[in-house]
Amino acid sequence: MAERPYIVGNWKMNGTRAMLSEVRAIDRSSQRLMKVEVALAPPYTLIHAVHREVEQIGVGAQDCHPGVDGANTGDISASMVADAGAKFVILGHSERRENHNESSELIRAKITAAVEAGMRVILCCGESEATRDAGDAEAFVTKQIRESLPDVLDNPTDQLTVAYEPIWAIGTGRTPTLDDIAAMHSSIHSTLVDLYGEDHAAQVRILYGGSVKPDNAKELLAVDGVGGALVGGASLAAESFLGIVLAA
Ligand code: PGA
Repeated sequence: MAERPYIVGNWKMNGTRAMLSEVRAIDRSSQRLMKVEVALAPPYTLIHAVHREVEQIGVGAQDCHPGVDGANTGDISASMVADAGAKFVILGHSERRENHNESSELIRAKITAAVEAGMRVILCCGESEATRDAGDAEAFVTKQIRESLPDVLDNPTDQLTVAYEPIWAIGTGRTPTLDDIAAMHSSIHSTLVDLYGEDHAAQVRILYGGSVKPDNAKELLAVDGVGGALVGGASLAAESFLGIVLAA
């Protein structure tokens, strides 16, 4: 991969202001690690506070509404998260696809809204265990990506990151074999070449996510085609998250 490795923490539905001390610790240490790009996606309620705390690391959101501001009680638009300080949005996470029935069509609309609001997007994709066991993982992920991405992005290099997160590896302590990760990342890269051309695709980082921990990060991040990691549970404490950043 051409760029620095990208290590992103996804806090999911965790975090209160008490965790800002972890953010400060992550930010301070990341200032010394210029070879790695580090970012955090806290819940909506903390985006602005995290944005104000940090100097070095990026801040993003975990979702946004596809529409413009208006009568949608309880929803948050892309322009609102951007205004709070988010520079990117994680979209298409399997927990949203499953728990909120988000379709790839909806995710495509959210990506368009996020990009129009000037943010980058981390598009998540990944298969279930049954799909992998059936030998259909690559076909499934290819379809997910093709259906989720807009046909046209002005500048995919700057606007897009893809995160491969097999559903069965999220929060379970299990990970695919290194060969399976390499094969999937190569397949995702080919899909991006088809969509946006070789030059753009070469610059789009493809992260691995699913049970990344300090003790397995080095080998996972060394896999061909892995441009970084999307980290859930291990991103909640500065010590474990920085262990992963250091491994990059
Ligand atoms: P995990 O979650 O690191 O806790 O497995 C990853 C994710 O869902 O992004």
